Amino acid sequence: MEAASGLGVEVVAASERPNVLQEAFPDTLLTLDFQKPDLAAQEVVEFARSRPLDAVVPVDDLTTVVGAAIAHALRLPSNSVESASAARNKHVMRTLLGRAGVPEPRFQLFSVDDDPTKVAGQVPYPCVVKPTVLSASRGVIRADDPAGFVAAFRRLEAILRSPEVSALGGETRQVLVESFIPGEEVALEGLLVNGELRVLALFDKPDPLDGPFFEETIYVTPSRLPGETQAGIADCTARAAHALGLRHGPVHAELRVNENGPWIIEIAARSIGGLCSRTLRFGTGMSLEELILRHALGMEIPTLERERRPAGVMMIPIPRAGVLEEVRGRDDALQVPGIEEIAITAHLGQELVPLPEGWQYLGFIFARAGSPEDVETALREAHRRLEFVIRDPRASAR
Ligand code: ADP
Repeated sequence: MEAASGLGVEVVAASERPNVLQEAFPDTLLTLDFQKPDLAAQEVVEFARSRPLDAVVPVDDLTTVVGAAIAHALRLPSNSVESASAARNKHVMRTLLGRAGVPEPRFQLFSVDDDPTKVAGQVPYPCVVKPTVLSASRGVIRADDPAGFVAAFRRLEAILRSPEVSALGGETRQVLVESFIPGEEVALEGLLVNGELRVLALFDKPDPLDGPFFEETIYVTPSRLPGETQAGIADCTARAAHALGLRHGPVHAELRVNENGPWIIEIAARSIGGLCSRTLRFGTGMSLEELILRHALGMEIPTLERERRPAGVMMIPIPRAGVLEEVRGRDDALQVPGIEEIAITAHLGQELVPLPEGWQYLGFIFARAGSPEDVETALREAHRRLEFVIRDPRASAR
């Protein structure tokens, strides 16, 4: 919304639940059922008769498919519904990447109704058990042996059978099992322009992500990997986008790199999540959101060059379950050289659920410094100075 107002662009915001102000602002707020893309598209076509729209910009994982359907119905440029859907389901994604020969883990699909003690003998070890349609590493669990596999499967099954998740529909019954790919992990932020991948930023993830759960923490850009490796990562991501049929707008890909080169863990048809985009500035201060809006509207994009100064973010993990009571040490953490901002997004009194059941962070720490190493050091030091007072939920019951 900020980027749009900076550009003088009027926004009609669609959400799944009615906004309390909708009656007062019927021209700028819409309620749509994101689970029914065709119906949502019809409704927007109707709306656009009196209020023409120039672009459709999905803002997260949950809106890529409905966004593509709406854009298609309005004859506006976008990814195809098929390609957006393929990027939304990890099994469909794996199948298409496999057909195109893009390096990826071996995979098998099971159902929550399968008996894990029976299938434990059919999967490779170590492996990763995951849902096909959730995100933020929710329900993603590594297993090293059959006993670990059965435990991981049952833990994921409980998440998938919870009322909130199962309400998302049939695909939440799927359980994907992949071979575990060792190596360093990176995230590529890109923009597809007429089917061609333009790399906006490559982030290193300097904390090892070896499981059993895969908590995102530090992202630092530019990457410290050799130029040739970075080129290989970009090439692999471009092939992945092509294999799914993605051609338009932002992509966010996670890859692992080892002695056999880059491997696609995942590619999504959206930009980086949470508040992480605040690390990115282009040209003379343009935000990622402005860049995406300019592209969506066919406006001139002055540059796709990221500002040179190294930058990073730490997604502050939830250390344990409980209720957030207090956050201490913020001022002290802000004093660390290089730290620009600390955004605590969890609210006091919030019940915190760590991975693999949860999907949130306590907040975000942002840093900029002269080198990627200094960015990383600053983020770690600021995090060390923060203290989160978390009350055991059982203590409150007494
Ligand atoms: P989500 O969409 O929920 O983030 P991903 O499939 O991207 O789920 O998995 C989350 C994280 O789990 C990845 O970023 C990676 O660190 C780890 N991971 C997932 N699959 C594999 C795999 N096959 N091998 C190694 N690590 C994996």
